[in-house]
Order: sequence, then structure tokens, then C-alpha cells
Amino acid sequence: MAHTGGVDDNEPILSYLTDMDGVLVHEDHLIPGADKFLSELQTNGIPYLVLTNNSIRTPRDLQARLRHTGLDIPEECIWTSALATATFLDDQRPGGTAYVVGESGLTTALHDIGYVLTDSDPDYVVLGETRTYSFEAITTAIRLVDRGARFIATNPDPTGPSRAGLLPATGSVAALITRATGREPYYVGKPNPLMMRSALRRIGAHSQSTLMIGDRMDTDVIAGLEAGMRTILVTSGISTRESVENYPYRPTRVIDSVADLVGHVGDPFGA
Ligand SMILES: [Mg+2]
Repeated sequence: MAHTGGVDDNEPILSYLTDMDGVLVHEDHLIPGADKFLSELQTNGIPYLVLTNNSIRTPRDLQARLRHTGLDIPEECIWTSALATATFLDDQRPGGTAYVVGESGLTTALHDIGYVLTDSDPDYVVLGETRTYSFEAITTAIRLVDRGARFIATNPDPTGPSRAGLLPATGSVAALITRATGREPYYVGKPNPLMMRSALRRIGAHSQSTLMIGDRMDTDVIAGLEAGMRTILVTSGISTRESVENYPYRPTRVIDSVADLVGHVGDPFGA
């Protein structure tokens, strides 16, 4: 059926993007059914990417961690905000230079696109997630941004989860640099639909025939929607079924968890 710029609900779903935390795992614990859901995608040869806004780890490190939780996901099926940031910088300014505040997930991604990491007049200051923010590194970042380096951050999340309580995340440290310099970063990760578009390109998928699954209305669902995809909200993570009504947009469908899609991956809206 012809639409006027909207998403065609009749088009079959040929590929999947799925958020990781709150959808497949809770930190180090498997969400029941996530293993069956993923193996069904694999058995049916359905292209998919697992997305995470966390830029700490490389896909290889994530693959190893996920294997411990009981999920076997090839490293090429993992898409982090660090990879999305590297892809963005490679498009914008190939062969550039950057001062990085972050971990191997980010430095490896930037090395892989041929970036030189330096604190000497870099094109960009790129801020990512780390658990060891150093006053010295943040001072250097502030001075470089103040002198004109373009300010990029992998993801806007103000906090992240941990068993002991909240952890300050990239968005909070970005706020510190912004307060000092008066300069806002450009955030590449969710909810920026850029992260979904680069993920789609990575697997050669089209937005009209791709489903985005996430546990957050304010990141996953809005980013999927703005990238032109149909979306499913799972209530196994942050957003609840009741909270959906508080947003001016809605997912295509709400389900309890990805376990509900087992047996239906070829027709996730038919069930
Ligand atoms: Mg999540």
C-alpha cells in the first residue's frame, strides 16, 4: 500500500537491530529467551546487529562477555557507539586526528579508520565511556576544545547501571567539559538516528524492512522511528507499558520480552 512518507507496515521484516542491555541481557545476566531469539535469527539467516551505546569495549571484548552470559554473538554482529562515532568521523574527515578520553572500545575503533590519536592540535576531542576518568585527561580535553578542537561524544547517557548504584557516564563528563568551555558536544550514539543509519549500512539493510527492538522509549524507540524503522518496545528493561502513553510517539508494538518473538522472527507483527 502506498504511503505518504510513512513506514509501510505491509513490508516484510528482513533484518533486525536490537539494543543489548535490557533486551538481551541485564548486565551479566541473560534475559530468558534471548538466546533462543538470537539463534532463531541466525538459523533463518536474518541479518542483525546488536547495539550498545556503551563505548568502553571493543566488539571482541563484548562478544567474550556475552558468551559468558550464554549468548553466542559474532563480533561482526555488534555495533557500539564507538564504531558509529568512528564511522561518522571517517565520513566527515578521513585520516584526521583526535584526542580521546575513553577506553579501548573507542581508541581501537579510531585506529581502525586510520585516525592518529594526539594531544597536539587535534581535529577533534572525542569523549567516550571510561571508569577511570582522570582530571589530567579532562583538563587536556577542556584546553583543546577551548582552542577550537571539535567536540564529539560517543553517547549522551548521563548515568549507567551497576549493582552498587548509578555510575556517571559519558553525558555527565561531557557536561563538565561543556560547563568549562561553553561548547556542547555532538553526540553520535542513540537517540541520534545516525547510529541506526550507520548500523543499517553496515549490514546492507533498509529502514523500511528492518525492525528496531529496544527497552527505552527515549532512546531506542525514538531513534528507530526517526531512522524510518518499525519498532518494538520490550518491557524487560527500563520503559514500562504504562509509560508509553506519556510520549508523543509510540512503538509499533509493545511486548514483554524478546521471548515473545521466538517462533515469529519472520513475521514479528503477525503473532
Ligand atoms: Mg537498553
